[in-house]
Amino acid sequence: MPVSRETFDQVMAPNYAPQSFVPVRGEGSQVWDSEGKQYIDFTGGIAVNVLGHCHPAMVKAINEQASKLWHLSNVYTNQPILELAQKLVQHTFAERVFFANSGGEANEAAFKLARRYAFDNFGPEKHEIIAFHKGFHGRTLFTVSVGGQAKYSEGFGPLPGGITHLPFNDLAALEAAISDKTCAVVMEPMLGEGGVIIPNDSFLKGARELCDKHNALLVFDEVQSGMGRTGHLYAYMGFGVTPDILSTAKALGGGFPIGAMLTTEKVAGSLVVGTHGSTYGGNPLAGAVGNAVFDIVSEPKFLEAVQGKHQRFVDGLARINEDLGIFKEVRGRGLLIGCELLPEHEGQARAIMRAGVEEGLMLLMAGPNVLRLAPALNIEDDLIFQGLERLEKAAQAYLSSK
Ligand SMILES: *Cc1c(COP(=O)(O)O)cnc(C)c1O
Repeated sequence: MPVSRETFDQVMAPNYAPQSFVPVRGEGSQVWDSEGKQYIDFTGGIAVNVLGHCHPAMVKAINEQASKLWHLSNVYTNQPILELAQKLVQHTFAERVFFANSGGEANEAAFKLARRYAFDNFGPEKHEIIAFHKGFHGRTLFTVSVGGQAKYSEGFGPLPGGITHLPFNDLAALEAAISDKTCAVVMEPMLGEGGVIIPNDSFLKGARELCDKHNALLVFDEVQSGMGRTGHLYAYMGFGVTPDILSTAKALGGGFPIGAMLTTEKVAGSLVVGTHGSTYGGNPLAGAVGNAVFDIVSEPKFLEAVQGKHQRFVDGLARINEDLGIFKEVRGRGLLIGCELLPEHEGQARAIMRAGVEEGLMLLMAGPNVLRLAPALNIEDDLIFQGLERLEKAAQAYLSSK
């Protein structure tokens, strides 16, 4: 039976509201739908496709691995995943890596390890987690509970306890709340889903100092900000504050599901045999693709180019705003950019996203008031310019439909 967008409403659980078209093919930062219409992709699969769609190096890596070995389980280790772990250890603060299949799972491992490490070293009283409003950490029960958006955990209780939420960027609130019962302070070093919010300098540094003072672990969720997204391999490198545990996923596989938790040898010591695991985590296919992505993204020249592309986006968005007066603020780092709408357009990010579809442009939102751009890091300059032209047309269409 032929399928279409209508099929979604007939056979799929209604927890998503996909756009009206069905993409069938992608190449770089372009996508074509089932009618043959072309789109420019400013979404990168939500900050996943760092190298765009069907990058030749990734296609080669998955094809070669596909005819060698797909899956073993963690009863055995495998070469591709060991190579990827080696690279992550070489290029980051980490000394040990645990692999999962998604961001939520990488965070689940991070939060469980933070509790277990405190349990082993300080006793069961030290189990409290401090996290932040608007933070997003995934959709498992533990990760929605640590996440700072009540709408994602509402109705799923009873929720795991011992979790406190504070305003992001409020160091005084953190200082007042942290105690010797705190096992971990968990944050995205730069909020993604929560509206593309940048930390102020003193916040990350202050959080690091408070964690040290209270023997709490600093956990950075870099599922969205990691792997080149901000123009640094990981955002913590640009901010100059090093965590004890870091979760990474999305761009790590460039479109193939993989997640990882990075940590020190000392902290990892609490994850002894049998404490945690995953059937698929660290499988050879994911490892092979991860290596192909890592080798390209970790090149200094590749990362430097992200800053230039950031500037082209920001300049273009400023020009659109001069013409149309629609954004309150354009902010971000690298190729994670948020355009907050003026109060008179409150709640209209979705409407502009829809208007983008008409113009052949794929856009994201980060909450109802912020348009979010998270394109491939290798998006060509002419597609940036063409896409921004389409964005201006979409914004104009929205304004004239008001
Ligand atoms: C997307 C995201 C997650 C969840 O990742 P999944 O792969 O969907 O489980 C967690 N944290 C952050 C910061 C994210 O952006």
